[in-house]
Amino acid sequence: MSAEQTTTERPTYILTRAQVRAVSRVSPNFARVTFGGDELFEFCTPGQVFDSRVKLVFPPASGILPPLDRDTDDWWGSYLAVPEEERGSMRTYSVRELRVDAVSGDTEVDIDFVLHLAPGLSGPASRWASTAEAGQELFLVGPRRGVVEHGGAEYAPGDARSVVLVGDETAAPAIARILEDAPRDLRGIAFLEVPSADDALAIDAPEGVEVRWLPRAEGQLHGLEVIPAVLAHLGDADASDEISVKDVETEDLLWETPDYSGLGEEIAVTDARPERYFWIAGESGVVTTLRRHLVKDLGIDRSQVAFMGYWRRGVAMRG
Ligand SMILES: Cc1cc2nc3c(=O)[nH]c(=O)nc-3n(C[C@H](O)[C@H](O)[C@H](O)COP(=O)(O)OP(=O)(O)OC[C@H]3O[C@@H](n4cnc5c(N)ncnc54)[C@H](O)[C@@H]3O)c2cc1C
Repeated sequence: MSAEQTTTERPTYILTRAQVRAVSRVSPNFARVTFGGDELFEFCTPGQVFDSRVKLVFPPASGILPPLDRDTDDWWGSYLAVPEEERGSMRTYSVRELRVDAVSGDTEVDIDFVLHLAPGLSGPASRWASTAEAGQELFLVGPRRGVVEHGGAEYAPGDARSVVLVGDETAAPAIARILEDAPRDLRGIAFLEVPSADDALAIDAPEGVEVRWLPRAEGQLHGLEVIPAVLAHLGDADASDEISVKDVETEDLLWETPDYSGLGEEIAVTDARPERYFWIAGESGVVTTLRRHLVKDLGIDRSQVAFMGYWRRGVAMRG
């Protein structure tokens, strides 16, 4: 039994069909897809979604979703067991909104998809979202309500009353959800780099959190707006004058949180109760660049920060 699982025998995660109920182009570079379906009724906990992630399985060219074994916690094994040409593609997304009808239990999930559609820069998920229509179906894997709390969520500020949240457009839905689920007395700042000024979508953030949108100029590389802004805010103005985004060679995404190190670094057990918590997600090279400045130059303790590569320039994700 996983550490997250309680005594019940039900699988920790649901692997369910989710039907598209509505699609709206909420801004030039975001499509919001609303999913519903009877099997979603146990998905995630309203008010405690934060940055919970889901896995979505997009159909292959045939349009037919793969036959997945749904009575198991080994959803990854179940997916890999399907021949590659029938498997479709699995990608990771955040929950922008979770609505559960208090009477009927009917559950709806909104996902905000970035439409990166330029030739060579697109993939099955983004393409699917750009043409999605009501009635279509995907598989969704996500935490089961009442069985796993905070499943798939990394946001863990502990006792910190102040936060610094940093992300590009792929992390904007998670940041928005975090701020809407956070206690109303939270303080801090959120930096969101987006493709255009019109991609700054409404967030009902606590009053004490400044939400700073940073639109990129057309064709500008990811990170060149957000890195200097964050470093200037943290008092590293010298570094912010000469930023180049680290082009990481590994295809693996950076994933360094206070209690997990993808780089295999030792996790120090600490009694320290940091006042300020950092949550940083987006393109892996951008997050790696920020990590170098925060940990090495500014001496910020890694136990205060979650650094998460959400995608990698030039690399298709595998799940
Ligand atoms: C925990 C987590 C939460 C996430 N939440 C969201 C979310 O809520 N909304 C969202 O849109 N994305 C989110 N992402 C990112 C998303 O999973 C990736 O962008 C993914 O690569 C999209 O799959 P694809 O099939 O469109 O492209 P892929 O087949 O994976 O990649 C094809 C090409 O597209 C490029 N590419 C991928 N993403 C982008 C981008 N944003 N801009 C420009 N080029 C890109 C790749 O570098 C590659 O060259 C999240 C990722 C993680 C790990």
